Amino acid sequence: MNKELSNCVECESDYYSGSSIMVGLCPECSYQIYDYENCEHEFKNDRCVKCYWNGNVSEYLKRKKKMDERAFKTLIEYLEKIPSIQKPIAFGDENGLWWLKFSLDIENKLAWNVVQELGCVINYISINERLPTVFYPVSPAPYMNGGPYDFLSWVIETKDIEFKPGTLKKWLEGRLPNPIDDLEQWNVE
Ligand SMILES: [Zn+2]
Ligand SMILES: [Zn+2]
Repeated sequence: MNKELSNCVECESDYYSGSSIMVGLCPECSYQIYDYENCEHEFKNDRCVKCYWNGNVSEYLKRKKKMDERAFKTLIEYLEKIPSIQKPIAFGDENGLWWLKFSLDIENKLAWNVVQELGCVINYISINERLPTVFYPVSPAPYMNGGPYDFLSWVIETKDIEFKPGTLKKWLEGRLPNPIDDLEQWNVE
């Protein structure tokens, strides 16, 4: 690898030119902005030994991260208002592939309506309008732990890092009862 130093125009850190596919951007910034492959950083003495990045983050990327986090929080706040969804909603993010996990109060008479509505929007709006998200149940081994009242959870996750939590919130708002916490708006048979 070319260990000649370049300076990143975004974060202003020096980096080994050979460690980045892009000219003028360190592997970290080219990943954050253009989704190119990142370096698997390994920090020693405040620098990555593989790409020489010093951990700097530009103001622009700091703002972008904050905005993404805010959108994530707004989605969680929205979901928390849905009848039968129990707080807290767990969440995480692996390289942009975000996920949420929560349980439903299965004694709430709207619980199955909620599963149905979420299943419709998140998994299957229509053949032509599939969102890159999935909604599915998960559980630890029931015989070792217990039944659905305490151990059944539901996961929402994206399969596409381009798909942001804020976009899912817009889809849900467009399709689910409005206002979301108004029980009258939910179709109960
Ligand atoms: Zn950079
Ligand atoms: Zn690195």
